[in-house]
Amino acid sequence: MKQFVAVYGAEPEGVWAAPGRVNLIGEHTDYNDGFVLPFALPQRTVVGASRVDTPEWTVWSEQTGERITFDLSEHVAGWAAYVAGVVWVLREAGFDVPGARMALTSDVPLGAGLSSSAALESSVLTALADLGGLDLPVDERPALAQRAENDYAGMPCGIMDQSASIRCRAGHALFLDCRTLEVEHIPFDVAAAGLAVLVIDTKAPHRHVTGEYAARRTTCEEAAHALGIPALRDATLAMVADLADPVQQRRARHVVTEDQRVLDTVALLRDGRVREIGPLMTASHASMRDDFEITVPEVDTAVEAALSAGAYGARMTGGGFGGCVLALVDADATNKVTSAVTDAFAACGYTPPEPFVAIPGPGATRL
Ligand code: ADP
Ligand code: MG
Repeated sequence: MKQFVAVYGAEPEGVWAAPGRVNLIGEHTDYNDGFVLPFALPQRTVVGASRVDTPEWTVWSEQTGERITFDLSEHVAGWAAYVAGVVWVLREAGFDVPGARMALTSDVPLGAGLSSSAALESSVLTALADLGGLDLPVDERPALAQRAENDYAGMPCGIMDQSASIRCRAGHALFLDCRTLEVEHIPFDVAAAGLAVLVIDTKAPHRHVTGEYAARRTTCEEAAHALGIPALRDATLAMVADLADPVQQRRARHVVTEDQRVLDTVALLRDGRVREIGPLMTASHASMRDDFEITVPEVDTAVEAALSAGAYGARMTGGGFGGCVLALVDADATNKVTSAVTDAFAACGYTPPEPFVAIPGPGATRL
């Protein structure tokens, strides 16, 4: 890996990679013990790493141009917290993590809702697990990477992002039950169906993301508590209608209907009826806009423009308040939909969006 050689003057012992992801459907359901259906992007974070003899870690990132060294005595802040968090969580879990030096680079856009943070954690975790010969089954890794982000970096994300980055398979979407952590790999060959998934990075500045995300989580927990159930996964629409608080009612209705939309999407994909998932995507967007209230004008504009240009379905993907929109389109209509969204953004005076066609790629791996 040329970056590792440039920084450390030698080849790394190994090179590992973990992808970013988009969520096909199932938004804000993961922390409600519900269902999600992400797939891995071809964009990924690549890390070259070698062991060192001391309990010390050095990490350099091409994206920040910074090189940070830490040991176990300090709490690391900033972007390197995602790396130090992985070291911390592995030690908390009782593993003897080797000291290491690492160089990383990524083509996952940072902070666009495509989970560059999970790609970073997952690539580092995979590298350290291999370097140290740690006996750590793949299905136990996402929860550790999530804890690194929650408890060390201080971001209250659910289990979806790390599960997708670590467990996805090329050509498949990952049907994940966030309560049992059981997965099923659902074939998702859009090209064979004459279709394409367009990801549109709206470039909308994230507004109040962390605070609003935490507020949604709290409201969902309060709604579950008011209903006397462990999580909104266990609610029905009839139960939701009985909630006294109108905000809790809207939030819970999103979660309950969104879980059902994931199940319906999986059923259609199992049947090879790819095009028919479009209306479920669009309904998911309406639910996020009206009931969960996590969209912003840029993402609503992108969804409307994509649908007007002939997309079968379109929705915001990711935690909300900016980020990316997914559109399911005919394979030969990507340019038409792209121009429609670009024109709509220009008319509104928004920063030009960055669309790309997403093909489901593999999960974390040694290269
Ligand atoms: P997302 O995961 O949607 O991209 P987040 O805000 O969760 O957005 O994570 C983005 C943060 O993750 C960045 O601000 C940075 O701190 C860190 N990060 C991700 N990838 C890299 C990288 N290649 N180099 C340095 N920091 C990174
Ligand atoms: Mg993230």
